[in-house]
Amino acid sequence: MTNRFLHLLATRPWLLADGATGSNLFDMGLTSGDAPELWNLAHPERIGALHRSFIEAGADIILTNSFGGTRYRLKLHQAQDQVTELNQAAARIARQEADASGREVVVAGSMGPTGEILEPIGPLSAAAAQAAFAEQAQALAAGGADVLWIETMSSKEEIEAAIAGARSAGLPIVSTMSFDTNGRTMMSLTPAELAAIHREQGLAASGSNCGVGPSEMVASIVNLSTGGDPSMVFVAKANCGIPQYVNGAIHYNGTPELMAVYAGLALDAGARIIGGCCGTTAHHLKVMRDALTHHVPGPKPDAALIEARLGALSMGAKAQLSGHMDRASGAAVGATLRRSSRRRENHESDQSSTPK
Ligand SMILES: [Zn+2]
Repeated sequence: MTNRFLHLLATRPWLLADGATGSNLFDMGLTSGDAPELWNLAHPERIGALHRSFIEAGADIILTNSFGGTRYRLKLHQAQDQVTELNQAAARIARQEADASGREVVVAGSMGPTGEILEPIGPLSAAAAQAAFAEQAQALAAGGADVLWIETMSSKEEIEAAIAGARSAGLPIVSTMSFDTNGRTMMSLTPAELAAIHREQGLAASGSNCGVGPSEMVASIVNLSTGGDPSMVFVAKANCGIPQYVNGAIHYNGTPELMAVYAGLALDAGARIIGGCCGTTAHHLKVMRDALTHHVPGPKPDAALIEARLGALSMGAKAQLSGHMDRASGAAVGATLRRSSRRRENHESDQSSTPK
């Protein structure tokens, strides 16, 4: 039997991925400090409702509620012995909603960072990280995932451990990183370096998620596709606007119109899978679907076009767009929030409310 994800990729020009998990769960009653993954057992109907809202908005791919589902992240909630149970439940809930939709919807098993720093900089060995990702990946596969979706990564060591662990489950693998620091990941990787990992590892797709905002996202996709080749599939999953720290919580103020412009530019930039990250609601997603359906193809966006349509770019992203891949340091737009570490924590557990 053909894999559902690979089949859809082979038959469609582009696929719509879903929106945010964490920020939408906060709107459904999750409180700060709670592990969203525990809701797979405590409130499966709420997780199912979120998936359903994205499917009804037109999503072809939904990500399971398992971003923090490795034993290292679950340990923060004394749930490290429930890795299999929580991840299987995450995949099962998404599978039920996908199968009930009456069309082909892909269940992507979300796998986020362990929260630990890997050797040689940190204490966690690559072997231990790989084992933790393998444990999670196998549970997601057993619960019905079609593809394993490694996201919000920043270090080469950890993305490689995650890919190696995911491989044990025998499903296609997608890997996205967060280019939130002057056009690079927090651990300094560029989109071109991710393209090299994509090629070496034989990924089904690679790309960018979360990070700063839609303008940096589109630049990272241009840089990724420049470093790759036309056969490679790229993913764009941008936050809904630039995160702003207001009264102790992160807010995302992107309008549906902004996300619609972003979706079209991401497609022109070379992404074939487009969705939203933090702050993106089902309403934003529906507007993005309409924008993609009616999109008139344009040229690959350059820095001037991206800034005119979506807002300012970091110096690093602009340098990469002009072919200077070695540009170092300098603050990204919005980096004054010290959002790198905060956002990584908040990707699935912020208190942002996006009423739009
Ligand atoms: Zn995010």
